[in-house]
Amino acid sequence: MMSHSAIGSTGTHVVARVDPSAIAHNLEQVRRRLARNGSTPVGPRMWASLKADAYGHGIRHVVPALAGADGLMISRLAEVPVCRDAGWQGPVLVLDGLQDDVEAAQLDQSGLHLVIHRAEQLDWLEARPLHCPPPWVWLRYVGDLGYQGLDYDAYQAAYARCAPWLARGDIAGIGHLQHYAAADTPTGIAAAEARFRSLTDALPGPRSTCNSAAIVCHPAHARSTDWVRPGRLLYGLSPLPDRDGASLGLRPAMSLHARVVAVRELAAGARIGYHGAFGAASAMRIGLVDCGYSDGYPSHPPIGMPILVGGRLARGLGQVTMNSLLVDLSDHPGAETGMPVVLWGAPELPAEQVAAACGGSAPELLTGLTGRVPVIAS
Ligand SMILES: *Cc1c(COP(=O)(O)O)cnc(C)c1O
Repeated sequence: MMSHSAIGSTGTHVVARVDPSAIAHNLEQVRRRLARNGSTPVGPRMWASLKADAYGHGIRHVVPALAGADGLMISRLAEVPVCRDAGWQGPVLVLDGLQDDVEAAQLDQSGLHLVIHRAEQLDWLEARPLHCPPPWVWLRYVGDLGYQGLDYDAYQAAYARCAPWLARGDIAGIGHLQHYAAADTPTGIAAAEARFRSLTDALPGPRSTCNSAAIVCHPAHARSTDWVRPGRLLYGLSPLPDRDGASLGLRPAMSLHARVVAVRELAAGARIGYHGAFGAASAMRIGLVDCGYSDGYPSHPPIGMPILVGGRLARGLGQVTMNSLLVDLSDHPGAETGMPVVLWGAPELPAEQVAAACGGSAPELLTGLTGRVPVIAS
């Protein structure tokens, strides 16, 4: 009954496909949103967010598609070589900054921009080996997020400490960074932005604000900042709960693929699954799909979760095991073993929809793919 069919030459069943052309398209869409009118038409510069291995897409797969970005934003210094190996020669913003004094010995690389969250990181920076090229420093204001970054007084102290370093050429520049806690609401950034302005207005240096939500919801502000930091938008994901990426002109950059590995007819009243978890109210046809929670599919999706089988939507039965899930094929008379399945990332099945149905976010879903799933660019 069970027939395992491998996809391509990888020899595995579940595969995540990354579409670099979608990422290049999305980058262009973000640029359009940010374009200014009038005498200075060039919009703010863009740090493309590649946190969490590029939101699960794989840094090495997305870097070639981000040639149009001005810089890449990663979490850790150790990820800089991954960006370089993928061909990126421009600036790299290390969001978490230095983790300890040992990392300071790894600052012998060019194009580094280090975010500073706490004074200790300046101690480590100061103690770096002499031959390191001067990095940029971005002071992060704690803002209304409230748990990461320098508070008002510590920010001013950090700036006072860095200014002479800049004058001496020990660092290449000082920037000002803040991250909003509620950019997806109409009034969400006003108070935070006012505090940030009062803190930084008198200080020279570029400002970086605006994640995806701020770019979409506060376009006038986004156009006026020096550097924005979009993540989700680049991967085709909407930052707003009531919209999907397509409605924002974006294309999904990742799709998750599996196969139907068994098809069964159930009689009315039949019960299947552990402890008879699922009961057929009437005669029906079901399919077993070779993707489960050990791949990163949500373990408790609602009954009726859409799943694409052979290019047509079918209803999931809410039954997910370690390696498989069940789908209702009653409206798919032609469905058979080996038929391709898409779990998310098709125009008719955005990851945002799957995530929302399970009470999570799309980045959570995509970064939750496990090491069992090969991620391939195609
Ligand atoms: C993750 C992150 C971003 C990007 O957020 P998106 O919602 O993916 O656009 C920008 N700035 C900071 C500080 C972040 O942590």
